[in-house]
Amino acid sequence: MKIHEVDARALFAKYGVPVPPSRLVLSADEARAAAAEIGCPVVVKAQVLVGGRGKAGGVKLAATPEEAAAKAGAILGMDIKGITVEKVLVARAVDIAKEFYVGMVIDRRSRKPLMMVSPAGGIDIEEVARTTPEKIIKVVIDPIFGILPFQMRRMTSSLSGDKEIAKKVGGILASLYKAFMALDASLAEINPLVVTPAGEVWAIDAKINIDDSGLYRHTDVAALRDESSEDRGEVEAREAGLSFVKLDGTIGCIVNGAGLAMATMDMIKHFGGEPANFLDIGGSSSPDKVLSAMRIILRDGNVKTILINIFGGITRCDDVATGLIEAKRELGLDIPLVVRLTGTNEERAREILKGTALTPAATMEEGVKRAIEAAKR
Ligand code: GDP
Ligand code: MN
Repeated sequence: MKIHEVDARALFAKYGVPVPPSRLVLSADEARAAAAEIGCPVVVKAQVLVGGRGKAGGVKLAATPEEAAAKAGAILGMDIKGITVEKVLVARAVDIAKEFYVGMVIDRRSRKPLMMVSPAGGIDIEEVARTTPEKIIKVVIDPIFGILPFQMRRMTSSLSGDKEIAKKVGGILASLYKAFMALDASLAEINPLVVTPAGEVWAIDAKINIDDSGLYRHTDVAALRDESSEDRGEVEAREAGLSFVKLDGTIGCIVNGAGLAMATMDMIKHFGGEPANFLDIGGSSSPDKVLSAMRIILRDGNVKTILINIFGGITRCDDVATGLIEAKRELGLDIPLVVRLTGTNEERAREILKGTALTPAATMEEGVKRAIEAAKR
């Protein structure tokens, strides 16, 4: 789960990261009042759950409350990567002498928390990783011991030769680690962590993603979910009990079981197609679930065909077939569907589909190839 910068700032502050004062506002007038209260200069920042707001024009400095109102007015209603800005943060601006990147993720290879720091902060860290990977220092942390003193020295000395600044940064890295672990985060990032000309250190951006599987342990954090800024398909899928991840391809996929869903996507790629999504309709799939799945997939304008790949166990193929017929009628489908059904009640499913355009494919490979052909048209 992603949370907004304003909430991530509050969580970081709770764990001891120095964060400039700020207010969340919904209008230009409120921005003016917030700027007057906080003290100018301020920075006005779009609150959307996507990165690169700065580049998109969603982060603007203001020298007076009047200017803050004007900047907030311009940012509110702006479209950033498909999301309309409804809230802005007005934060005390700081002077920047240096910008660092500091962040944490779970490292799959070592199966441990990984801390990354870089003196090349402020900009897109993926870009730094691509062009100058040597500028990113990575430290794998054993959760039994925490950050070891030599690891801490390696990170802080790579960021600053100044002892005082290195000490402040060290404190912030320790807080970042504590926050990451305590919150069951999957990602925690401060980009940039800045040093002012006077030698103060501040976190002026904040990003935290929480592992969905850990949310039950953090009801206060779970309440921070903002569905209005999440992908609509993913929200609807969660409500319908489906696992759904949107991708960029043209072949919509409706599959039961995460393993089969992965195998289906792999096979689509293998034969030269591009999946439009990952979707697992789960076990006992009622016709309703098929209908919801169809609706979610069809919202994506890139989808040229839908491949339904069902291995009937607890899931009954006849239920799925009924769902497909209903979906076709109710949604007035005009794109080709490719079906592959096998397992429990397969014969009944074939009966149900007889005489429709939905002739089941004999094998998964045939189904995938037919879907790739259909997506080319
Ligand atoms: P992002 O683009 O979504 O990552 O948004 P950030 O919060 O990281 O802001 C983008 C950029 O705006 C930063 O890298 C800074 O260069 C600039 N910026 C943000 N806050 C301040 C501030 O308080 N003072 C100054 N001088 N620049 C800021
Ligand atoms: Mn940033």
